[in-house]
Amino acid sequence: MKLFTGSYIGGRWRLSGDGSAVRVDDPATGEPLAEIASATVGDCLEAVEAAAEALPHWRAAPPRVRAEILRGAFELMVREREQIAELIVRENGKVRADALAEADYAAEFFRWFSEEAVRIGGDFRTAPGGDKRIVVTRQAIGVSVLITPWNFPAAMATRKIGPALAAGCTVVLKPAAETPLTALYLADLLERAGVPSGVVNVVVPDPPADAVRAMLSHPAVRKLSFTGSTEVGRVLLRTAADQVLSCSMELGGNAPFIVLDDADIDAAVAGAMVAKMRNGGAACTAANRFYVAEAVHDAFVAAFGAAMDALPLGPGTDPDNALGSLVSVAERDKVAARVTRAVEQGATVQAGGTVPAGPGAFYPATVLSGVRHGDDITRAEIFGPVAPIIAFGPEDDVAALANDTELGLISYVYTGDLARGIALAERLETGMVALNRGVASDPAAPFGGAKQSGLGREGAAEGIQEFLEEKYIALDLA
Ligand code: NAD
Repeated sequence: MKLFTGSYIGGRWRLSGDGSAVRVDDPATGEPLAEIASATVGDCLEAVEAAAEALPHWRAAPPRVRAEILRGAFELMVREREQIAELIVRENGKVRADALAEADYAAEFFRWFSEEAVRIGGDFRTAPGGDKRIVVTRQAIGVSVLITPWNFPAAMATRKIGPALAAGCTVVLKPAAETPLTALYLADLLERAGVPSGVVNVVVPDPPADAVRAMLSHPAVRKLSFTGSTEVGRVLLRTAADQVLSCSMELGGNAPFIVLDDADIDAAVAGAMVAKMRNGGAACTAANRFYVAEAVHDAFVAAFGAAMDALPLGPGTDPDNALGSLVSVAERDKVAARVTRAVEQGATVQAGGTVPAGPGAFYPATVLSGVRHGDDITRAEIFGPVAPIIAFGPEDDVAALANDTELGLISYVYTGDLARGIALAERLETGMVALNRGVASDPAAPFGGAKQSGLGREGAAEGIQEFLEEKYIALDLA
């Protein structure tokens, strides 16, 4: 396994300015994997300056040149998917199949945005008076600070780097300190794909608050693109206000998974397994609250409980395991505490629910029935393999129950009646709805949330717009 352990600044690998280090552990064993440079505030500001220096040249590069480099990065990622997946498994704890799926998904953002780089449009307008013309162009917004979480160490990075580079922006990427090794590997991969020095910089300050505040206060920075919790997102929005930065925020979720009385139960269980268990439940899109119509409730609970119970739990390096470890013992303990609280509030454990003995941050696939809307577990983002099930009757307005949260990332709906499904989807206050599907993410889809789940969209044609700014040139014909 090839490890990069420095800060990557201006095309060079560097030790920490003050010699401090971040230890990265394998959460499946509790053993240390690597020590990497902990970037100081000064290192991070140097990374911003390197990005600022590289900006004029990269912004002016022909779109085709930027596109070909991103295409090359896509091809390298496809070729090196096994190495990338191994890094993801070792630093994050997820199983190999999930890591390979992430590596492939992550690579697609480089391919998609290599194709978008050459389609940055503009337009030519006639002013109402007929005497003026307005030429609208779109230009790279400038130096961008990209901050990513630990749950998808590759995909959250490429979903930002791809559109930023395609638009002509230069970036400083700050991955989560729990999972920096994949991001550092990507820095090397991008260099090999031909990304010029300074266009992509990667720093891992730990703790991050001071260094991130300093970067967002640097006058060269024009953009913040953040993926992480709503709580940290709010803090960063306040900091970004000082410099009036453009902000794209992909924040937390509390996804309802709704099974209507006419749903195909086998299909709903198959969808629930994906919506809940993709990435071991550590996804912002993970189904967090299951609202199941009374008419099909018992059948759904029995089939879903059996499917969850059958998932082999263990290290992600063993291909026989379907569920790996959480990213840390601290995260595992948070999940366990939520289950304990749910049981105190009256829930029944149908599957899982017990921390296994031995090392590693493992928690089993768990199904809780008898949960009531409003119980604590329905209010918090679980971020683990736990499915609370709430029965609802014909008198309940399930859309109102689903919308009763300040978050609004994604909803899932299962029904046998497409018109009924669309009518419900239109009432749900989320940026995305998966209808009779367990997964909605796609590089071609504008991923993002409503309410406190975020601002802006990633992926699709919308994704590149987040890194572009409109400028018009007014022409007088007289
Ligand atoms: P987090 O908010 O704790 O951390 C995210 C990033 O912010 C990390 O790089 C972290 O080091 C950094 N950070 C933390 N505190 C900071 C501070 N005070 N100042 C500056 N930077 C700081 O989130 P996490 O625990 O890594 O990830 C889980 C969260 O991410 C969940 O809420 C999940 O829903 C969300 N998420 C959202 C999406 C989405 O697209 N909407 C995708 C994945 C994860």
